[in-house]
Order: sequence, then structure tokens, then C-alpha cells
Amino acid sequence: MPSILDSLPNLYRNLFPTFFQGPMPVEAKATCSSCAMCEAANPLRIDAVDGVNRFFRPDTKCCTYHPRLPNYLVGAILADEDAAMAEGRRRIQDKIAHGVGVNPQWIKAPARYNLLYSNARQVFGRTEALRCPYYQSQGGLCTIWRYREAVCSTYFCKYVAGADGRKFWMTLKTWLTLAEIQLSRYALLQLLPDYVLLGKDKADASSGPLTIEDLDDKRLPEKDYAELWHPWVGRELEFYRRCFESVRALSSEEFENLLGLDGVVEQAVLKRVHEASVAPRLPKTLKLNPSATIQWLPDGSLAMASYSEFDAVALPGAAYALLVEFTGKEPVEAVRARLREEKQADLHDDILVELYRHRILVDAQAPQS
Ligand code: SF4
Ligand code: SF4
Repeated sequence: MPSILDSLPNLYRNLFPTFFQGPMPVEAKATCSSCAMCEAANPLRIDAVDGVNRFFRPDTKCCTYHPRLPNYLVGAILADEDAAMAEGRRRIQDKIAHGVGVNPQWIKAPARYNLLYSNARQVFGRTEALRCPYYQSQGGLCTIWRYREAVCSTYFCKYVAGADGRKFWMTLKTWLTLAEIQLSRYALLQLLPDYVLLGKDKADASSGPLTIEDLDDKRLPEKDYAELWHPWVGRELEFYRRCFESVRALSSEEFENLLGLDGVVEQAVLKRVHEASVAPRLPKTLKLNPSATIQWLPDGSLAMASYSEFDAVALPGAAYALLVEFTGKEPVEAVRARLREEKQADLHDDILVELYRHRILVDAQAPQS
């Protein structure tokens, strides 16, 4: 089974704690090369569960997002001379030359992009206007895949472990985001200490009103840009490469110190949710989730969804009459015995686990949120 490290940039192999050598939930339902969210891969249209078409465009897939790349990952991309990285390297170099959303800590979304993103509704996966600048439409590939950041490394449209899988990846994202912030700050302290000492790593310039430069997707006025980068103006590529070298030289003990108590707490949370994502346990008492959405399909089968509008479970139509018997009033084994006796039917453990993980069936004894 692949390890969690296998899903992350190589740079982290010698840095991250041994926990990350543990098994990764394999997300076989997110069939990216034949995108599970595109209509071509959904002959039964089971993603239009409540009648709303949520299929993604093949020329965007889920990449209607602008990553925030930390300085050392930018440097890693620039330093990777593999021919397979040529297009990704070129796009990063273009970004740096253009200078929009580019600062010594991150290459991130332009302010105008953020404005569009935060004011759009129901557009994820479905608009060219928000397509990632590193996405290659032809072939639908990511040009910087080896170095993708916290959000891109942990996003899946569907999870084999359903809600538990999503919880694991979201928690991993939180941990990775902390690592990216601390590692990028560490690199700044080595190469441009004033950036951290004057609190520029905390200022979020994009939270204020948009400037003319923001609206026209132009870089900062020359004086402001020079002030931000001094003494690295004109040597930004070298700066990013040096950030990569600084982070690469860290030991795992030094990295642990950088994350401090926050890192300890986040890792403990991550361990807890990891188990549920790779080793499911069925609750003693289950009930049909009243919030689950149901769609009857033309072939008489059923698509049900609960924890995510993108992750429906397909079932034979006859299964519904069995599911309603799960009312939470008796243990799972008693319901199954009754189904066998009264309806000459059964729902096996693996099916119940699948339905529970997707929260079509929920733990009747758990506090309802
Ligand atoms: S994770 Fe993204 S690319 Fe992969 S199958 Fe899902 S929507 Fe498609
Ligand atoms: S960096 Fe890659 S994975 Fe992330 S949004 Fe862009 S194209 Fe998609």
C-alpha cells in the first residue's frame, strides 16, 4: 500500500515524521485521467443526484483553483531540470517575470482572481475563468504535479472512505499548510530576515480594496516592488532556488522544532482521523440518514448522497426497502436477522460499511451535529 509520503513532494521524505510513512487511503474513485466528475465518465449521471447538473468541464476538471506555492517549492520547480518539468518551469518563470501575486514568501493568486473566486457560486470545476495557470488543458494535466501544494495534494472529488476519507485529507491539508507556512518563513529568515522581522509575512495585502494594478493584473508600482524584494530585485529566480536549498538542508529534528506545539497537536488529530480512513469500524446501531438525497435512475437503480454532493453511491432499487428498516432502534445484527427472516434479503457488512462511510446510514448513538 502506498504511504502518505507518496502523495507529497519528494522534498518532504527526509523531513516529515515517521507517521507519514504509514498507509495512505488510495482514492481509486477519483479517476483523474478519465475524470470521474466529467460527464463522459458518468453514463448514469449519478452526480446529478438532486437534479442539478454538477459535471465538471474536461478542460478544467477540479483545477478551477489558484494554488499558493511556498517559496521553497517554487525553488524546487526551478531547480528540477527534468525535461518532463519543462512546461511547469516555463509557467513558473513567466509568473515570476510578470510579478503579479509574486512575493518572497509565496507565488499566489492575483487579487482579481481572489475577488472572482470568492464571489462566484456553483462554479467549481465548471469555469475557464478560474482555471489554474499551471493546468494544461490539452490532456488535462498539471504541469507542476510533483510540487503541488497543500490544497492540491489533498483534494479529491470522491473518497473511498467517504466522509472519513474526506476528514483525513482535510486534516492533512491543515497540517501541510502549517508546514508550508513555517518552512517558507524559515527560508525567509535565512535569506531575507527583515521580511519576517518586520511582519511582512503576516500582512495580507489582498484583504484591502483592489488597486488599479490589482484590477489590471499588473505588478506593484516599481518602488513598492523593489522595497518588497530588496536586495533580491532582479534575482528572484536565484532567491527561490536558495529557499529550496535552505529547506532541503534541514534535518527532521529541526523541522519538528519549527512546527512546535501546533505541529504536535495537528499531528495527533491527524493520527486519530487516519485510522478511520484506512480501517473502518461499523457502529453497533445504524439508521437511515434523513438528510440523504435520493435519485431514482432510468434503469431502476438508485443514487444516494449525503456527505458530499459529488459522491453518490449507486444501489439496486430494491435496496431502498431494506435501508428504511435501519431506524436506529435495534442493533445492526438484529436488523439483518429480521431482514433475512421477513424479506429473505440481507445487506452484508462491506455494503453497510460503504453506506456508513458515505453517511447514507449514520451512527444512531452519535450526537447529531
Ligand atoms: S480529483 Fe479532480 S481530476 Fe481527479 S477525478 Fe476528481 S475532479 Fe477529476
Ligand atoms: S497546481 Fe496542478 S493540481 Fe493544483 S490546481 Fe493547478 S493544475 Fe490543478
